[in-house]
Amino acid sequence: MVIILLGEVALDDRYYSIAIDGPAGAGKSTIAKRVSRILNIEYIDTGAMYRALTLKILRNNIDPLNEEKVIHVLNETEIDFKDNNIFLDGIDVSKEVRENIVSQNVSQIAKIGEVRNRLVNLQRDISLRKNLVMDGRDIGTVVLPNADYKFFLTATVEERASRRYRELVDGENLNIDLDDVISDIIKRDDIDSNRKIGPLRKAKDAYLLDTTDKTISECVEYIVSIVLRGKE
Ligand code: C5P
Repeated sequence: MVIILLGEVALDDRYYSIAIDGPAGAGKSTIAKRVSRILNIEYIDTGAMYRALTLKILRNNIDPLNEEKVIHVLNETEIDFKDNNIFLDGIDVSKEVRENIVSQNVSQIAKIGEVRNRLVNLQRDISLRKNLVMDGRDIGTVVLPNADYKFFLTATVEERASRRYRELVDGENLNIDLDDVISDIIKRDDIDSNRKIGPLRKAKDAYLLDTTDKTISECVEYIVSIVLRGKE
């Protein structure tokens, strides 16, 4: 086997993928970002893709429940990743997609079959070109069912909501109420878990990691150690 050195880690010569799924606030993106830096591989935040489309729908004052109009906009939209940033029709919207109004509407958009088809295809295309860690809801089950490593992250609703609340307050979103954040998360979990296509699910062969009482470093170490063990 040909071994090449990538950053701090020796890896073989084939592209490999790490799938990380779980509900909102389980810590996926923070952990996946660090894993990508340690392993020197690309990080693909699939939630940002659904968020980018949602942002455009909201900016155009389209009702997220109006599937016909959403699909029309989808067909006229370019979504892309460059250097870990999300681009909507060529413009970097990495900051805007994190807005609370986007979080509150994204699950409605993400349950539309045509939307999922298009974004899942895009995600698979990206995975053919590089080593990566990809996070989302359906990565281990639908997008990359043959991913080399799969993880499913969870945490209690209270913990996930309080992380999201701190993130919003740190981002200078004032007038945020913790109870509202809790109910938004419960609502999003419900839509994501119960939709017909690509629902939030743990893949059978995914490692389960409860992040509630763990530090980010502990979770990152857990994932990296499993990946490196597989690469020995
Ligand atoms: O990961 P994040 O919380 O940013 O995702 C935002 C939303 O995008 C999720 O609540 C879900 O509705 C949708 N999503 C999805 N499938 C993915 C990633 C995200 O449906 N693979």
